[in-house]
Amino acid sequence: MRDSYGRDITYMRVSVTDLCNLRCRYCMPAEGVIKKNHDDIMSEEEIIAVIEAASELGIRKIRFTGGEPLVKKNIISICRRTHEIPGINEICITTNGILLPKFAQNLKDSGVERVNISLDTLSPEKYSYITRGGNIADVLRGIESAIQTGFRVKINTVLIMGFNDDEISDMAGMTRYNDIDIRFIELMPMVENFADGFISSQKILDMLPDIEPLESDGVAKIYSLKNARGRIGFISPISESFCDSCNRIRLTADGYIKPCLHSKTEIFIRHKTKDEIKSLIINAVMSKPKRHNLNANHITESLRTMNRIGG
Ligand code: SAM
Ligand code: SF4
Repeated sequence: MRDSYGRDITYMRVSVTDLCNLRCRYCMPAEGVIKKNHDDIMSEEEIIAVIEAASELGIRKIRFTGGEPLVKKNIISICRRTHEIPGINEICITTNGILLPKFAQNLKDSGVERVNISLDTLSPEKYSYITRGGNIADVLRGIESAIQTGFRVKINTVLIMGFNDDEISDMAGMTRYNDIDIRFIELMPMVENFADGFISSQKILDMLPDIEPLESDGVAKIYSLKNARGRIGFISPISESFCDSCNRIRLTADGYIKPCLHSKTEIFIRHKTKDEIKSLIINAVMSKPKRHNLNANHITESLRTMNRIGG
């Protein structure tokens, strides 16, 4: 599917739930989310029907996200059935890692190829603070179990000035002797006003003197430390627009296609026939904006918090 600006849309991020077992300060409100009625959330059948329709239109890669995708009861079955859909040739998941010791092997067996695990700090106290009560030992066990299961692990780290800027070198250092990648992501203001929290990728790059550029990988710019086993990526939605190379659409857990993370345009896709779903997906692709809309203070135009979009 080519959008109105000639971009080939081949990637769909699927949020399977708004719910989460953590409460990260930059992602969701302290009180969490009001649990929706069962009927207001897409069922497994509906999610599979949308992925089937999307694959017939040229979507090749699916990433499951949330909320926390591993709290969705039937996530393994959803992954397995997605793996069986002709045309889908890559399935990934983004998780906070807490439940990976329980699910890593099942995910592998059901066709998931890659796991991104979110970790913003190496300090137990700071981890508990930023996630409002999480235990870093749980996520470290999750990372270990993903590696043991044979996944190539990517760590997602949101850059937050005054919170983890003093740890960047240690976090990047994890790639030196371990075959894991780390991706630093610029903070996008969605919930709490981390007005002083933004720090650009370039500032972080300047803190890593022995870093060497490699190729770009979609929306990420890739580097590595000298002689390191893993790689370091930078995703800079605020300081550098990567919209020209955007190849994705999003499906929310309550059944809307979002053409752009930061746009308020949403297209309701539930209770439709397969042909209707396909034409709504095409509409969504054709309404992808040329670039994302952030106001002068970098505040998103989207009306959702990140846990209700999927990141
Ligand atoms: N619960 C899973 C997790 O944390 O990996 C998946 C959902 S989470 C919304 C997906 C990604 O979005 C995570 O890597 C998270 O750090 C990132 N994220 C959430 N809020 C963000 C924000 N305001 N700015 C930048 N990244 C954010
Ligand atoms: Fe949950 Fe992920 Fe949001 Fe943290 S970033 S609250 S783990 S959905």
